[in-house]
Parts: sequence; C-alpha cells; structure tokens
Amino acid sequence: MERLRFAPSPTGHLHIGGLRTALYNYLYAKKNNGAFILRIEDTDLERSEQIYTESILEALLWCGLKWDEIYYQSQRTYIYQAYIDNMLKNGTAYKCYCTKERLDELKRDQIKKGENPHYDGFCKNIKENLDKPYVVRINLPQKDVSFNDSVHGELKFSSKEFDDFILQRSDGSFMYNFTNVVDDIEMNITHVIRGDDHITNTAKQLYIYSVLNAKAPQFAHIPMILGPDKKRLSKRHGAQSVIEYKQIGFLPASLLNYLARLGWSHGDEEIFTMDKLLEYFDLEGLNKSPAVFDHKKLLWLNGYF
Ligand code: GLU
Repeated sequence: MERLRFAPSPTGHLHIGGLRTALYNYLYAKKNNGAFILRIEDTDLERSEQIYTESILEALLWCGLKWDEIYYQSQRTYIYQAYIDNMLKNGTAYKCYCTKERLDELKRDQIKKGENPHYDGFCKNIKENLDKPYVVRINLPQKDVSFNDSVHGELKFSSKEFDDFILQRSDGSFMYNFTNVVDDIEMNITHVIRGDDHITNTAKQLYIYSVLNAKAPQFAHIPMILGPDKKRLSKRHGAQSVIEYKQIGFLPASLLNYLARLGWSHGDEEIFTMDKLLEYFDLEGLNKSPAVFDHKKLLWLNGYF
C-alpha cells in the first residue's frame, strides 16, 4: 500500500509551499487508496511551538487534507535512541568527543589548505567510553549513492562530498536527517514528495538508509516556488501563510486549485476540483522548473482588490 507523509516543522505557520507539498502527498496517497500521514517534526525544542502545530493542523483541515495517522517526533525519542544504541554497537556510528576548539582549528587548517571544511574521523577508532560530552556521528560508507528521482531522474553523489556528519547532538537531541529516515522506515513510507532544497539532505539520508540496511522510499523533489520577481518566495511577496487566506474568507478550493497547478500540469486544463485532482494527479506531471506564485494576481482573480 502507498504510504505518504507530510512532515512540517512547527516553527511557523503553514506557508504556501508547505501546503503545496502536503497537497501533492495527499493526492498521491489518496488516488492510490493509500495512507496520508502527518508527522510533526518538533524535535527542535527551541524553535518548535505548540501554537504553530495547532495552526498547521487548522490550515490542513480547512483545506480538507485530513490525515489518516498523526505522529509527533517529540514523543518518539526512545525509538531514535534505540537506533543510535544499535548503530554504536555495530560500528555504523561512533561517539565523537572533539571539542569546539579542535573542530575550529581543524576547519581553519583545512580552509588554509584550500580544502572544504570536513570532519577528519579523529574519534572513529576510540573504542572505550570516555567520561566527556560527545556527539554521535555516522561512520560514512566510502561509496557513491544514487537514486532515481521522479522529477529530476538519476542523481548520484560521492562520499567525498560528505563527512561523518552528526546524528545526535551532545545534549542528546537528534538531527533532522536522522529522525526523518528512522521515521520513514518505521512508518513504512513508500513515496516522499518534498521541495528540491532537500536534495542534499536526501543524499545524506541515503547513507543512513545504507548503514541501516533499509530500502529508501521513492523520492520526488519538486522545484521551489518563486515570487513574481523570480526570487525565492518570501514574506515581502505578500501573504504566504495559509491561515491568512482562511482569515480573509478565501475559498480553500480556489487555493488548492491554484497550488495544484503551481508545479504540476495535466494537458491544458486549468480548473481542477478535488475529485478531478484525485483522478488525474500523477508524478509524471510534476514540472522540473520553478513555479511563480503571484499573491496579488490570485487575490484579483478571486474578486479581492
Ligand atoms: N521537517 C522537514 C521540513 O519541514 C521535513 C522535510 C521532509 O519532508 O523530509 O522541511
């Protein structure tokens, strides 16, 4: 069965780009009689806020994107810790005790030599447990990873582009790439549709899948949304948060129709009801080039001046 997820971090209100990602994942799940899973990625306790979680749920429900299952990463730390313990045991991860001073010096030296700053594996062979603060790093396999993206085709990465990156911070909290992979495995996610700003993360995640001996889902990385000036969409382009459209009495069906077509096309058709979207949505129709979001035009087209 197809299982897709939308995995927002509750560090702000749901924005237009997030809603489009949620919509595509919802459509692909539902048109295949699969499950649409909502995963609140609230492991960054400093930046995550309950009001944003509530606001994201409200925005999704307003749009009719009802989830079949919901999870909160903050309630799943015991699962992530079990994975870390196992990885430390089998050597696919290791404790790194390097101090900030050592890492800063390493970085300075590498830059001086014209190298890209990277961790040098200094702690990889320390077998005993030292009584010092540590982070947990992946023991990166020295091999290429590749995947066949539904939008961009075959993408390949070399281990030379990465170092033994951190999975768990010294305060015990976990890094996004790690929890994201653990959850996609645990939740049996089959397809991941997300922004193409995540492609480098995907490469890192493939190394995590590889050391965990797990199969990665099918990825589709969708192009960014730009403002009318072709710059990355931001606040200064006008309303970005979905909740603002709700507040002015905008029709969710109009917003979804507009967003569906912002990065996906199906022939020359322009008007898609939810039923039609469910009938026609496919990964083949996803566009490769960035889409332009025009807030003023959207308002104007819907009778707001
Ligand atoms: N929490 C991540 C974000 O909001 C999720 C990205 C993903 O879909 O993997 O960017």
